[in-house]
Amino acid sequence: MLPPGSTFKVLCDALPPLHFVTATLPKETQTNPILANMQWIWKRISIKLKFNLHLNLSAYIWLNPKLKIDKKPFLWKEWVEKGITLLGDLYEDVTVKSFTELKQQYGLSQHQIWSYFQIRHLLTQTFGSASITPPSSDVLSKVIKVFGTGHEASKYYRLLLKNFISNTSGLKSAWETDINLTFTDEEWENISKNCRKMSGELRTRLVQFKIINRVYWSPLKLHRAKLRDSPNCWRYGGNVGTLLHMLWSCLATQIFWFNIYDNIKLILESDFPFCPSLFVLGDPLPLKDVPSAQAEWVQSALMLGRKLIVKEWKATSLPSVRVWFSQLGIVAVSASEPMFFILFIYFYYIYIYLFFYFIFFTFFKLFLFVCLLLLQCVGVFRGWGCVCVWVSEKEKKDGLLHL
Ligand SMILES: [Zn+2]
Repeated sequence: MLPPGSTFKVLCDALPPLHFVTATLPKETQTNPILANMQWIWKRISIKLKFNLHLNLSAYIWLNPKLKIDKKPFLWKEWVEKGITLLGDLYEDVTVKSFTELKQQYGLSQHQIWSYFQIRHLLTQTFGSASITPPSSDVLSKVIKVFGTGHEASKYYRLLLKNFISNTSGLKSAWETDINLTFTDEEWENISKNCRKMSGELRTRLVQFKIINRVYWSPLKLHRAKLRDSPNCWRYGGNVGTLLHMLWSCLATQIFWFNIYDNIKLILESDFPFCPSLFVLGDPLPLKDVPSAQAEWVQSALMLGRKLIVKEWKATSLPSVRVWFSQLGIVAVSASEPMFFILFIYFYYIYIYLFFYFIFFTFFKLFLFVCLLLLQCVGVFRGWGCVCVWVSEKEKKDGLLHL
């Protein structure tokens, strides 16, 4: 319950309940489970969607913990009653409104001029100048628009997912700074999408996802979290162990990648760029001149290299290129030799399904079986195509490789 006569009582009368998502709650209302949860959820959304909860044009002015006069959040009853609630209400185009404008628009009395100077000074201090407007955030207006229209939960999920996917700009700029390259939005989207195409195996895709999302703990990150004394690389101690250093620029990693690069070039009989955007991020752009089947194979071969690096993440040395080559062979052979066995299993499936089909006579089961069979055939023939490219290239080059 809100204490009667408190500033909150005034707020409840004058403002919509949504005001409470950003207000500083007094002690007696902090334990209210509905209000506390509302604030917690709103805070999580602002982190996910990367907007400043308290300092944007749609944020409420009153009892805002980031707007303080005499070191306290404040509430002016007359301003609230006249309908001034949001930071955006105080701005016109790109500057703070004049007192005359506010007086005309909201009908403020003349003696509010001192309060006006106080808030103008506060806004100048907070944003650096009276002509710098707070950033806009339309998340709240989108939420209000959805409210009461039905199927709200799915609409909120869609809103969060949409904004979450488009909000990888921080990740993009982190990689751009590391690699010293600039990606267009389209190129970055191709890199993100390629993560899903990299392999049919879920574990391999997860490795690529973790690399792009910078999940792996580098020596520098461990040092910053006070989990390691030195920020230096654990392979060759001299250099700072950033994520890019561990995945690309470390001397041990460079030797490993260069051996792989040499072998791939020998097999392909063509050159392609030796660059971190391809070797670390799997960017398809450097392979634009390579035929698509071969480019797909190069990506799988490089993905295997990345998998081996992260497998030996904390080791003082990396596996030799022989390990990479033998694993590449295992992948190809294990996919090719059991082909007859796989076909046998399919015929066995057909027999079992037809048996049940004639017993129960359900068309639905037959339909499900045909769909399943088609899906599995697509998977096998896709894998088979990739293996054929590799095996034929391998046979062609056998004897030329000096590992
Ligand atoms: Zn190193």
